[in-house]
Amino acid sequence: MENLRSKVIADYHTHTIYSKNNHGKGTIRENVEAAIDAGLKEIYITDHGPGHYLYGIKKDLIKTAREEVDRLKEEYSDRIDIFLGVEANVVGYDGTYDIPEDYEKYFDIINLGFHNGVVFKDFYSYVHYRFINNIKFSKKIRDYVTKKNTEALIKIIEKENIFTITHPGDKVPVDIEMLAKACEKTGTALEINSSHKNLTVEQLNLIKDYDINFTLGSDAHRPQYVGNLKSALERMEKAGIDSSRVLNFKRRNDQ
Ligand SMILES: [Zn+2]
Ligand SMILES: [Zn+2]
Repeated sequence: MENLRSKVIADYHTHTIYSKNNHGKGTIRENVEAAIDAGLKEIYITDHGPGHYLYGIKKDLIKTAREEVDRLKEEYSDRIDIFLGVEANVVGYDGTYDIPEDYEKYFDIINLGFHNGVVFKDFYSYVHYRFINNIKFSKKIRDYVTKKNTEALIKIIEKENIFTITHPGDKVPVDIEMLAKACEKTGTALEINSSHKNLTVEQLNLIKDYDINFTLGSDAHRPQYVGNLKSALERMEKAGIDSSRVLNFKRRNDQ
């Protein structure tokens, strides 16, 4: 494992103070410095999308974050590549996410995940996410919500350019095989998140024969956790996922 960690080039999932209300603790520069200290060659700044009313990046600050990344990119160009991403939120079960179309251009990558604390676009989506997802006594309802959650993700990856789906199955259940099948078609990766339990080894075992890639993400909310991929690497190894299928081991330009 030590050996595997030393070959990791990138961390695809880190938060900064742009995740508002003190949710992310470090500045972009601090995450970049931490990534260099952790031996990385690429760092992705992926704050919560603007549809998260507690922690989401303020829409007006997306351009500011872009400019900051561009400045630091220059400054650090001989040490590390810096990318601006975002962790977009599902805000509608009809397949809507929270990145306005005219803001997509500011991001190098858009990751997507389900989160609590999101402002849903319609009443049905809110009720489905918040309440129906919590009905656990009925298998029939459980199967129904699992399918609906999965379909919402699939609708988004089919029309938007999503790089990876963060912690699939965390917060709400998803049908991981159905999702992997869709990711095969769209070229979307699935994340093994080091701060959350998903993807689990069980999920990885179910989907490892699909032609999909994986990303590892520290999901660091403090600079000192940037590049902390221990738990994700352990799951990847336990499930026997070859590093050739994990994007963290390749430079972005070689993918
Ligand atoms: Zn997340
Ligand atoms: Zn995150």
